[in-house]
Amino acid sequence: MAKYVFVTGGVTSSLGKGIIAASLAKLLQARGLTVTIQKFDPYINVDPGTLNPYEHGECFVTDDGAETDLDLGHYERFLNIPTSQANNVTTGRIYQTVINKERQGAYLGKTVQVVPHITDEIKRRMLMLGQDGKFDIIITELGGTVGDIESLPFIEAVRQLQWELPEEDTVVVHLTLIPYLKAAKELKTKPTQHSVRMLSQEGVHPDIIVCRTEESLSPEIRKKVALFCNVKPEAVIEAADAPTIYEVPLAMMREKLDLICLRKMNITQYKEPELSKWKEFLDKLKYPKSKVTIGLIGKYIELQDAYKSILEAFVHAGAMNECKVQVVNVHSEFITEENVSEKLGNLDGLLVAPGFGLRGIEGKILAVKYAREKGLPFFGICLGMQMAVIEFARNVLGIKDAHSTEMDPHTVNPVIDLMEAQKKITAKGGTMRLGAYPCQITEGSLAHTIYENSLISERHRHRWEFNNDYLPRYEAAGMIASGKNPESGLVEIVELNNHPFFVGVQYHPELKSTVEAPQPVFVHFIKAAKAFTEKKEAIKNPLLQSEMI
Ligand code: GLN
Repeated sequence: MAKYVFVTGGVTSSLGKGIIAASLAKLLQARGLTVTIQKFDPYINVDPGTLNPYEHGECFVTDDGAETDLDLGHYERFLNIPTSQANNVTTGRIYQTVINKERQGAYLGKTVQVVPHITDEIKRRMLMLGQDGKFDIIITELGGTVGDIESLPFIEAVRQLQWELPEEDTVVVHLTLIPYLKAAKELKTKPTQHSVRMLSQEGVHPDIIVCRTEESLSPEIRKKVALFCNVKPEAVIEAADAPTIYEVPLAMMREKLDLICLRKMNITQYKEPELSKWKEFLDKLKYPKSKVTIGLIGKYIELQDAYKSILEAFVHAGAMNECKVQVVNVHSEFITEENVSEKLGNLDGLLVAPGFGLRGIEGKILAVKYAREKGLPFFGICLGMQMAVIEFARNVLGIKDAHSTEMDPHTVNPVIDLMEAQKKITAKGGTMRLGAYPCQITEGSLAHTIYENSLISERHRHRWEFNNDYLPRYEAAGMIASGKNPESGLVEIVELNNHPFFVGVQYHPELKSTVEAPQPVFVHFIKAAKAFTEKKEAIKNPLLQSEMI
């Protein structure tokens, strides 16, 4: 039987519940237990697929095509195992299920209420991943902050489960903030006391308090938190700010978060944590031997969470290359013909980001042109690949009015077009081409060198596609389709023959990059950026150049 850990948050949002949950999961996994994490979000959207990235950051897509919260990305990056639709549940999805059942008459004429019907559905989903014996431990992260009206049914469900399940089958970890007041030169425990009191009023008593703090917690502060929050002093865990999120599992190990959980769950069969790969990665991350600067060309750059998985994939690929990757955000809306070389001139590589709609696309096209002409390593993802296709049509094939029907529905040269199957769809949620699809790679291509494989699988989230009617003209001029869907023939990868590194992918490779398995296109892109900067240095420094010869 599985055991259940619940992670709640108090005082404020953005304390990093996802990272704490993922770190605890990592430690338990390293001790030989099978663990998964799920996220329950209190908003009414059925899933985050319809949300603008400015709302909650990027939408993370799973293999089975679920559009989910970005915290699932952290879970996968830490645990190196895939999540699925079942790992992300929203209030909207819970209500949708209950209302559908009510319409089918499943409640036999009863009044359908928040308690017990909504809470029963929440509990059913909380327990679901623990039913088939696949996992020893299910960690459930509750979105929102204790005290929010919309979180109440979730907290009530946890209360009922704490009561229904054997004592040793549940653990509640409460993450809070211990602010440091500069004027008083003191850490303050009152907000934590209040948030724990609020949680207790709702009937849930935390077993462990994890304290986010900028300063180290003294034994007195720990004792005070323990006393007023009614937990043992060793169950007060310090979570100080870390230089990288990937340090947090080790910090939690030093605080014995995993051991305290194991003790509460009465689990005695576990080993010393096996984290050698993780530590090796951290060493490479902390002591890079070189540095590259990559331009991220996007339109949501004001909010870093909008490109979360891309940024993390750069961290993994950088470590793999023992190279620090500095990402410079370039707002595509403000790139013009006049300023393009000034904006992109100092970069070692260019990533044109995914996106939707017209805003900022001409800037993306100018950036692609610059990279293509200057031999600057280029990596286009989804919309970024589509922009590379349009740029090539306009400036190499001479099809000046080439466009995507997403931006110009009446273009006479739709080099990017909607698939037939997509043309009839008007509903928004869950209707894109979503999730994992296979891709056949042409032998001898750059893509084949990158993947070292002829058949790969990557995740998708888009509606528009390369229009195969134009493919012969592209290939004749040097842009080849080196990856295609084996059944439909849809183009998944384009690359340029006469360029050091120019790759556009219709899928989202960033979604599968993890600490232990960095994504190969990212790894090779950084390698190419390193080569580019070395060449630049050699040209600047003739002495080096003669050494190279
Ligand atoms: N807007 C484009 C499409 O729907 C690209 C989507 C994306 O970049 N994820 O095809």
